Formats: sequence, C-alpha cells, structure tokens
Amino acid sequence: MFPIERIRADFPILQRTVHGKPLVYFDNAATSQTPQMVIDAIVEYYSKYNANIHRGVHTLSQEATDKYEEARLKIQKHLNAAKAYEIIFTAGTTHGINMVASGFSELLKSGDEVIVSALEHHSNIVPWQMLCQKTGGVLKVIPMLDNGTLDMDAYENLVTSKTKLVFCNHVSNALGTINPIKKLIAKAHAVGAAVLIDGAQAAPHIKPDMQDLDADFYVLSAHKICGPTGVGVLYGKEAWLQKLPPYQGGGEMIETVTFEKTTYAGLPHKFEAGTPNICGGIAFGAALDYMNAIGFDAIAAYEHELLAYGTEKLQEIEGLRIYGTADKTAVISFNIEGIHPYDIGAILDKLGVAVRTGHHCAQPIMAFYNIPGTVRASFAFYNTKAEIDVLVAAVKKAQMMLS
Ligand code: PMP
Repeated sequence: MFPIERIRADFPILQRTVHGKPLVYFDNAATSQTPQMVIDAIVEYYSKYNANIHRGVHTLSQEATDKYEEARLKIQKHLNAAKAYEIIFTAGTTHGINMVASGFSELLKSGDEVIVSALEHHSNIVPWQMLCQKTGGVLKVIPMLDNGTLDMDAYENLVTSKTKLVFCNHVSNALGTINPIKKLIAKAHAVGAAVLIDGAQAAPHIKPDMQDLDADFYVLSAHKICGPTGVGVLYGKEAWLQKLPPYQGGGEMIETVTFEKTTYAGLPHKFEAGTPNICGGIAFGAALDYMNAIGFDAIAAYEHELLAYGTEKLQEIEGLRIYGTADKTAVISFNIEGIHPYDIGAILDKLGVAVRTGHHCAQPIMAFYNIPGTVRASFAFYNTKAEIDVLVAAVKKAQMMLS
C-alpha cells in the first residue's frame, strides 16, 4: 500500500487553505511542493554552516564544500552517470540548455542541421533558434501526431549526414507524453549527432539512466522534483564537456589567470563560474534522498492510478476533450467546448484548486490543435483520488457557471 497519509504529512503546505477551501494542488508540472526534510536542509545550511565553497580553509567552508560535493554524488548516482564531474550544477533546465546551445555556437557550421521536436517547451526551442541564427545552422522539426506523440517515421527521414544535434524532451510538459528517447538517441548517434534531452518533466516521475539511454546531455530542474527553485543539473558526457567552451568566465572556473592568458579549470568547475547556489544544491540532494526513499517505481505506479482515475472521471463531463492520450505521466490537459481555459482556471482557484491554464510555454503544440491553451491538471505522488473528486466537481461547477 502506498503510504499516502504519511507522505502528505511531510508537506506542510498541503495543510493550507485557499479562499477558505482546502488547497488542492494540481500544478505540479509547473513546480512541485517541498517536503519538511528539504525545508530542514535549507534551514540547517543557513543556521549551521553557511560559507563559500572550494576556497576556504576554515571549518564552515569545508563543511559546506563537503555537503555540496556530496549532493553532486547523489545526483550522479540518481542519474547513473559514469563520473561525478559529468554533473554540472546549473540554475535550472533553461540555464543548462543555454550552456550547451552557447557552446555549440563555436562548433556548428553553416548548413549543419539541428532537429527539435514539435513537443518542446519554449526553453528547448528558442536557444536552438538563436544558435541557428548565429551559425547559419538549419532548424528542422519532428512533427507531432493527433494523440500527442512524435511522428517517429518522419524523424527517421529528417536525420541525415548533416544532422549535428537533436533535442527532445523526455516528457512533454503540456501533454505529459513520454517520448521514445532511447530510440531517438540511437538514430541520432548512427549519424554522429549529439542529443540533448530535456528531463525537466520526466525527473519527478522517472529515474533516468544516463548510461542506458546513452544521452549526450540531459538537463533538469530541482524545483520539479521536491527541491528548491534556482538550481538544476546539466549532465554531459565527459567527451562533449571537454569539447565545449566554458559558458561564463569568472572565479572558480579557472586554473591560472594572467592578463595575457587564462587557463580553465577541469570538469565540472569549467562550467561553474562564480559562487553557486550552494544551499540549493544541497537541498536538491536532500530532495532526491526523499524521493528515492519512497521509490520511483512506487511513485510512478501510484501516479498512474491517479491518472487513470482522473481521466475516467473528467471524461464523463460532456464537451470535455483531453489532449494527449498516449503513454504519459500524470498530466491531464483539457478544454471544455465553448469555454476559455483561463475562465475555468479562475473559478477552480476560487474553489481552492490550483491548475495551470494557457499555452504552458509550448505554443507550437497549441497551434497544432488550433486552441489558445488548455487547462492542465498535473498530479504528484502526494495527491489523492479525493482531491481529484474535488477537481471534477469544481470543473462541473465552472462549466455550469460559464455555459
Ligand atoms: N522544459 C520543460 C519540459 C519544462 O516543463 C520546463 C519548466 N516548465 C522547462 C523546460 C524550464 O525549466 P526551468 O524554468 O526550471 O528552467
């Protein structure tokens, strides 16, 4: 039995009310909530060993350095990366993608081809557009199908000897679709192209194995996975991280500096200029400890139950259409005929139910369906079927009020 009551007790925010109603938090794909042990790790850092890292001889600095590097090892283990220095701390997914895109502006040549999927978040589209504008690279798009999956036959034909880079998310934030990234990576590797996987939405549900997937780059944000905002990770294969130039210059990323010439530090420090989000990194490690103690298989199985229940109940509402019906994580993106998603979201909020409405930073997907946006209910392992009942009742009420 999934220990849902014990888990819910770990999240203080779940006790609060919104507009006088108990909070039902179904905006987990935007950001997850934070368990007490992660909050404790943050408080402990600032109350007991707040110090700058990698440079001090004093005790506090050494303690902070040890905890920060311990967090890197936890992330390495979690991702099954071959080496700890393949884990680069970032400010989040967007930052990690831009680090790679910026590096490739020195490696990509005019006419080289770059492939993105139609299911991407804007943060995995815009940096590659900017890269192509800078280098003369050509951006190609893997089309999507009506059920919210990628057209993998079309992908087979898009990949050519000119393909240098492929970008795809592991899980779509707008629809929840789980993409066949292992297949996609193998095909790209057959022509020598590098692949970056945006794992922002997969991270809370799936434990990704870098060596099994053979991804060249994999990025994620701690705040989707019970950690704090402003910290994330770029995993990169050692060979690629050696090839890419540093993203930013500054302290921490150098070996020697003279006015004539600077030499760069080795991995991972080459990509970690300046004082990092030390507390954030440590709390990220604590969040992984928390989720791994529950277990990702148990989390996925429980969330799947919520998804099946929510889908069945919502589908009973007349005029409701769900977008993205393939193999997916616990995300239900829907509209009700004749009603703007924003209006539904505003009424749900008044009833204590937090959902996201709009294009979810994935305008091309909305354009594909020819809609302004959707209402997105995204479930986490601390949600319950009783909360889904509240959502369904609230959606029915909104429909009644707005029809
Ligand atoms: N990619 C995907 C699939 C996402 O869901 C998000 C967050 N909504 C991002 C990228 C960007 O993540 P962040 O804002 O943490 O940089």
